[in-house]
Amino acid sequence: MSRPHILFVGIDGVRYDTLLEQQTPALDRVAADGFLQDLQVNASGPTISGPSWSTMVSGVLPPTHRIFDNNLTDHDLGRYPDFITLAGRAFPEVQTFAGADWEPLVSSHSGGPIFAGGGFLSDRRRGKKATADDWHVGDQQVADRATEQLAGLASEPGSITFVYQHGVDTAGHREGVGERYREFIDASDRRLDQLLRAVDERPTRDHEDWLIIIATDHGHIDEGGHGGDHPAERTAWIAASGTGVPATDEPLILEQADVAGHVHHVLGLTDQPPEFVGLPFGTRTEPARG
Ligand SMILES: [Zn+2]
Repeated sequence: MSRPHILFVGIDGVRYDTLLEQQTPALDRVAADGFLQDLQVNASGPTISGPSWSTMVSGVLPPTHRIFDNNLTDHDLGRYPDFITLAGRAFPEVQTFAGADWEPLVSSHSGGPIFAGGGFLSDRRRGKKATADDWHVGDQQVADRATEQLAGLASEPGSITFVYQHGVDTAGHREGVGERYREFIDASDRRLDQLLRAVDERPTRDHEDWLIIIATDHGHIDEGGHGGDHPAERTAWIAASGTGVPATDEPLILEQADVAGHVHHVLGLTDQPPEFVGLPFGTRTEPARG
């Protein structure tokens, strides 16, 4: 079985209604070939980065992976690993990359990493002195490293590339849902364009299967911040196109765990534990029970 290439771009903290108000030509291309849909972050967890990203990459819900905030200590992802780790075990030849500006995704910071194998962490200036320019530097470093990865992949036997963008969420926390927040949505879309071009310009692109997934983990309230149950926080979204993705404007029922569900499906990973609630996109008939 030839394995697909998978590009998963995570953009942290992007409110769905604000997203729709911005010009996002790169995301629009993905949506036109597949779908862009809102969803509700599963009620079994809070609207916080650690639990939501863990659910997306593991396919199990917070009561199972036991991550309920951004301190990941004592998590149970060892029993329910991320899909890069599982793919690496099942198909060691599959090419993988994870890059992020948020430490717990790819490093031991705060009890991480969420991706057990770790990955590339941007080395921008951090802390209270960091400015919006530094936030851009971090996200651009990640996008540039991922672009090199995408361009350099061998055509066989498939790959998984995870690219994380942090600036939107940081802007939301610092300044609320305002001009800076919108500036970073636009910047993330330009970096998504850079990544999609790296895929499209591969000389072997026409012979390859590509699955593209773009997702956020939660929204933000107007004044900035998240974690609660306001619709502006609880509403997230997924866009996807390519391998196995239905091209539709019809409403789909989605869970964040379906990111892992779809990835497992297209990779041919089987043997999921009963706690795994992820399903391929377009096949869900009801929300997952937490
Ligand atoms: Zn987040």
